[in-house]
Amino acid sequence: MVTEACQFCKIVDRDDPDVREVYRDENVVAFFPPRPAVLGHVLVVPRRHVRDIWALEPDEASQLSRAVLLLAEGIRDAVRPEGLNVIESNGAAATQTVPHLHVHLVPRWTNDAMGPIWPEETSYSEDLKERTMLDVRSAVQILRASVEPPLAPEDRRKHLDYIQAVVTRQSAASSSAKGWLLPITTATFGFALTQRSWPLAALGMVAVLLFAYLDANYLRSEKQFRRLYNTVARSSRKVPLFTLDPVDADEPLPADGLPLSKWKKTVRSYLPERSIWASWSIAPFYTALLLVGAGVLIVA
Ligand SMILES: [Zn+2]
Ligand SMILES: [Zn+2]
Repeated sequence: MVTEACQFCKIVDRDDPDVREVYRDENVVAFFPPRPAVLGHVLVVPRRHVRDIWALEPDEASQLSRAVLLLAEGIRDAVRPEGLNVIESNGAAATQTVPHLHVHLVPRWTNDAMGPIWPEETSYSEDLKERTMLDVRSAVQILRASVEPPLAPEDRRKHLDYIQAVVTRQSAASSSAKGWLLPITTATFGFALTQRSWPLAALGMVAVLLFAYLDANYLRSEKQFRRLYNTVARSSRKVPLFTLDPVDADEPLPADGLPLSKWKKTVRSYLPERSIWASWSIAPFYTALLLVGAGVLIVA
């Protein structure tokens, strides 16, 4: 598209006889500005009249980036600079003077005419920097969520099947743990009772505690996978495709939340939380067995 009076569109249309063009392909054109800041200074523009970075399409951005890489290398080979700036300015406040997006490639030498391009120093408070970082981070997350393609239904279905298989395996493991424990404790406590052997009864109770710990871990893991299942089923949070890591379903730590200490993290990874121990499939079963054990211990 030609925009009348745009000096860069004129160059794109080969309508500027004075321009020193250095590169052209189907998407971009590169040329010397009339008054280069440093010798070898090149401008790269998309052929389409795009005002600034906010009007650039992703495909155009990648075509432009490729051309910038090519030209940066070409400039290095041709004029052997000590360094190179890549500058792209948007808006008058940022010193954009021609309203057709362009990338400056400026070869640099120590003490060249460009001089320093950054302020000597600034003094923003830590608090302000932190808040601004959070604002930008959440803005980017919202944008990213809006451009990501929605999950294909058949992929979600498959993912849910995988997670379901894990849940099923874990509840089967939990029932088989209980299935093993019952005959073992019956035999141990029975024997302890007939032999009047309190150490045997104590041993039986230790076994009950070990099985309870094992079972609580199964249950905890099963719950984590159910949470992952629900997250995927409701698409309430974006998780990696086909992930079987329940951590992906967890909410990220709140920005102002303190990270857990190493010790707490370790305890948490080995010891199921109180709600797991108190659940219907752990507490009644193992408490009953422990009570029987305690009874046998007293009698024996
Ligand atoms: Zn233009
Ligand atoms: Zn410029």
